[in-house]
Amino acid sequence: MATKRDYYEVLGVPKNASKDEIKSAFRKLAKKYHPDISKEENAEEKFKEVQEAYSVLSDDNKRQRYDQFGHAGVNGPGAGSGFGGAGFGGAGFGFDASDLGDIFDDLFGGGFGFGGSSSRTRSRARKGSDILMQVELSFEEAVFGCEKDFDLDVVSECDKCNGLGGFGEETCKRCHGSGTITSEQRTILGSFMTKTTCPECAGKGKTYKEVCSKCKGRGQVKSRKTITVNVPSGIDNGERLRVPGRGHAGENGGASGDLYLEFHIKEHKFYERDGLDIYLEVPINMAEAVLGCKKEIPTIYGNVKLTIPGGTDSGDKQRLKGKGIKDSSRRRTGDMYVIFKVITPKKLSRDQKKLFESLSKTDLDDSEIDRFVRFTKNND
Ligand SMILES: [Zn+2]
Ligand SMILES: [Zn+2]
Repeated sequence: MATKRDYYEVLGVPKNASKDEIKSAFRKLAKKYHPDISKEENAEEKFKEVQEAYSVLSDDNKRQRYDQFGHAGVNGPGAGSGFGGAGFGGAGFGFDASDLGDIFDDLFGGGFGFGGSSSRTRSRARKGSDILMQVELSFEEAVFGCEKDFDLDVVSECDKCNGLGGFGEETCKRCHGSGTITSEQRTILGSFMTKTTCPECAGKGKTYKEVCSKCKGRGQVKSRKTITVNVPSGIDNGERLRVPGRGHAGENGGASGDLYLEFHIKEHKFYERDGLDIYLEVPINMAEAVLGCKKEIPTIYGNVKLTIPGGTDSGDKQRLKGKGIKDSSRRRTGDMYVIFKVITPKKLSRDQKKLFESLSKTDLDDSEIDRFVRFTKNND
């Protein structure tokens, strides 16, 4: 650390300066270097240096020790200095805090040229909130994509007051345009200066003569808007789509939030979906299952003729490659699976019954169970 400058030099006062001279020198410098308003280089460091010098020279006791022993008299161990390099806002100042109250009144109020139309406004730009919207799609809309209109209640900038909240701008009387209020808190450790957002102007530093009747001063209004979204093909149940910038408007020039659409897809009467694959159960009668057949099968891209081989069991599958769902964003296509279900006839005509009876007398395939039954019988 660089060697400490002489405290009188820091404040720019002679060694025999009166208490008033010291105080007014400090006021001037505190304004000049206050980190919140100063444009000087190293303002914060200089401000601390000024504070430190003032805390010593404004205290008769310390000033005397300083005059006698220099920095060692007030900063060494046991010197009794009430502050230790902490920054503004948390430092325990080692001098009469009522002085400070005056000084900060000066700093932040009393016509001091701060705030107004200056760029150092306290209200920060804030991004608007996001909107999450639940959207129901039919099976086909999800599979092929669609263009959909949504009605949304969106917060947007009030068009009557252009988002200002009122008419006839005035500097806030409470915070004098700074947007913050400095208050003093006394504790046994010393006085602390705390800054809070001005409740009068919500940190804007400005108030209005007339409050906007449309937005009641909020600068924003909620209105119903219709937006059109292109839903890409292949959207799945529970999937979310982000539409940037279509959420609620931001504050103080902040960007708008985003709109999220969460999709819920209605079930199809015949098709079942698993990701990009589609399953379809196709019933076949016993003769078709035994002898095989050709059958027209509906796919999502139109009908196809399928050859079902003889000896097809219930639950057997056939894959139709590429006949599943196209995912436009991931450039993938699923398959379709046809699952056969053999229907056992419940009602037979007399002729049909005869055919089955003669069929059962023929030598049909034994099952393993049949052979097992014969085996257990012989062992009796
Ligand atoms: Zn205010
Ligand atoms: Zn308005």
